[in-house]
Amino acid sequence: MPSPIIIAIDGHSACGKSTLARDLASRLGIHYLDSGALYRAVCLYCLDLGIHPEDRHAVIHNLDGLEIQISLGDYLKVMNNGQEVTERIRLPEVTRWVSEISVVPEVRRKVNEILRRIGKQQSLVMDGRDIGTVVFPDASVKFFLTADKMVRAQRRQNELQSMGREISLEKVLENLEHRDTIDSTREDSPLRCAEDAVLIDNTLLDRSEQLELAMSYIRLISS
Ligand code: C5P
Repeated sequence: MPSPIIIAIDGHSACGKSTLARDLASRLGIHYLDSGALYRAVCLYCLDLGIHPEDRHAVIHNLDGLEIQISLGDYLKVMNNGQEVTERIRLPEVTRWVSEISVVPEVRRKVNEILRRIGKQQSLVMDGRDIGTVVFPDASVKFFLTADKMVRAQRRQNELQSMGREISLEKVLENLEHRDTIDSTREDSPLRCAEDAVLIDNTLLDRSEQLELAMSYIRLISS
């Protein structure tokens, strides 16, 4: 059996990583795994237990009590200790605190174990903050996505609006900046562009242009 192909997509918050990852996975006929969903699952678990996400000691102390299961299909299903949390991991409270949870090395170890186990079994497009740098440094293809901050905030606000959630542009922007700062400055696995990653700034690209650009690179390196 040929070894699985991993396509790693890292980048800033709300810059279209999951859109590109989903589009590439569907074009290539492989699964998409959103690694951020696992950090969100840990965050939700802590909030459900009443643990403050900045109480690192309590987070670490309770980590063994969490078993995260995921199933890849048309959509990513996430279970915390047997209970489906696929929708709840997108709650604003989780979005607010997930970066604080993600700085904890023990949390990262737990999530990475799951990601690597799945990545060994099958080809995947995986997006996150450290996939090409830390989780799969040997990934076949690496992209690093970014876009203008205001454009990212506007896109995220539109996305939230389409889900019936009214949040001001300022609040959305504040959350993006907050997460980018924590994600890029943490000690363990900070967000950065891998040396061998292709940088895509999609500020002026639409969804299909972004997909075609990424596909042309994949075709180039596989020819
Ligand atoms: O991708 P998403 O925005 O849902 O990720 C939520 C958070 O999880 C990020 O802001 C980041 O703090 C964390 N994360 C991470 N490493 C990854 C994926 C996500 O630290 N590989």
